[in-house]
Amino acid sequence: MALFGMARTVVGNFFSRPATRRYPSPQREPHVTPRSRGKLEIDIAACIFCGACAKRCPTAALVVTRAEREWSIDRLRCCTCNACVEVCPKKCLAMSPRPPAPTVTKDKEAFRQPPAGGMG
Ligand code: SF4
Ligand code: SF4
Repeated sequence: MALFGMARTVVGNFFSRPATRRYPSPQREPHVTPRSRGKLEIDIAACIFCGACAKRCPTAALVVTRAEREWSIDRLRCCTCNACVEVCPKKCLAMSPRPPAPTVTKDKEAFRQPPAGGMG
């Protein structure tokens, strides 16, 4: 009886579509809801480099360098806990619901404020 059940499963799997898909292609649209936590975004123009976000970050994903007016993130460390968004006094951090693109490097993503009076 057990053999018959197993044979039915084997035959069923033989004629059905695979339960998994090849990665990274074809890609599936990520399941996103308005409350999904995907990717941390910064409005660098509004940042005052106070460092509160970096101090609160539980995974040390953020580095803020006031002298160089630079804010950087190691996206592989970020666990999208949202703590930095909640602590930022200028509300210049936001959690986008869409996840970041896959990466194969460990590079940090850096954002810099142009010097006062500078362009871009
Ligand atoms: S907490 Fe906000 S204002 Fe302060 S350094 Fe972080 S992003 Fe900039
Ligand atoms: S969302 Fe959490 S883990 Fe990611 S940078 Fe902000 S505080 Fe750090």
